[in-house]
Amino acid sequence: MKRTLKILCTDLDRTLFPNGQQAVEPEGMNNFVEFVRDRNFRLIYNSGRCKQEILEGVKEFGAPAPDIMIGEVGTKIYFREGEEYREEREWPKWLGENTPDWDVGLLRDLVLREAGARLQPEYHQNPFKVSFFLEPLSTAPAMADKLSQEIRQKIPGATTVYSVDETEGEALFDILPAAATKLHALEYVRRKLGEKREEVFFSGDSGNDLEALTGGYCGALVRNAIPEVKEALMERAQKAGVEDMIYLCQGDGPWGNGYFVSGIMEGLAHFGWAPSRKEKRADK
Ligand SMILES: [Mg+2]
Repeated sequence: MKRTLKILCTDLDRTLFPNGQQAVEPEGMNNFVEFVRDRNFRLIYNSGRCKQEILEGVKEFGAPAPDIMIGEVGTKIYFREGEEYREEREWPKWLGENTPDWDVGLLRDLVLREAGARLQPEYHQNPFKVSFFLEPLSTAPAMADKLSQEIRQKIPGATTVYSVDETEGEALFDILPAAATKLHALEYVRRKLGEKREEVFFSGDSGNDLEALTGGYCGALVRNAIPEVKEALMERAQKAGVEDMIYLCQGDGPWGNGYFVSGIMEGLAHFGWAPSRKEKRADK
């Protein structure tokens, strides 16, 4: 049975935005723009970036304007209304109600006791997101593990997300309510729109995408993902029993090298939503 695509949700940095080290497929973004132009599905961007940074990236990389933005790792949701994006006020309200033990002051104190931890700039913080850099990069994973354990004990309603910005060489450590991740925010939007999980496509490249990639959607990991992320994804997918809903981009299809946005097209083709080049020509 052929599924209908109802929601195309993607991570931005090094997934839709080709801002990594691999070769950029020259027609990659044009193909994507063409694919979403006359869409009868919702286009959602789901990123660690804040609203302003998402809009800047859209401009910088020539990406299409989304219908919905999920920003700051799932802690903010915006719906497009005309040319504007309106923040969904129900979402932080829901987060507060579902995370009664949330305590930003306590979290900051706890993490800043580590010598290698420092706060990210103020525009990366919000009432439901506390974000740090961990240094040096070599010991950051161990530091993140230790901090995550401590945080789980002190504030069970909090979750931690560790990821590496490979371009900047920075280890990022975010603390969020367990109910406020990229996955939870997408689930909130999906339920609000009344769509089925299997008619949602999600693409990503790094640690903070793993939960959404294995959320029961049609998930594609772009080819530039590092081996550790590929392994972690397959392990998680097996545990969740959703291996057949996951596609690892290979760069051997009609949409090019599989890096960044060309990987999104490859993933869409894998799930039968994007045509092969041949069909595309025949259409015209
Ligand atoms: Mg990314």
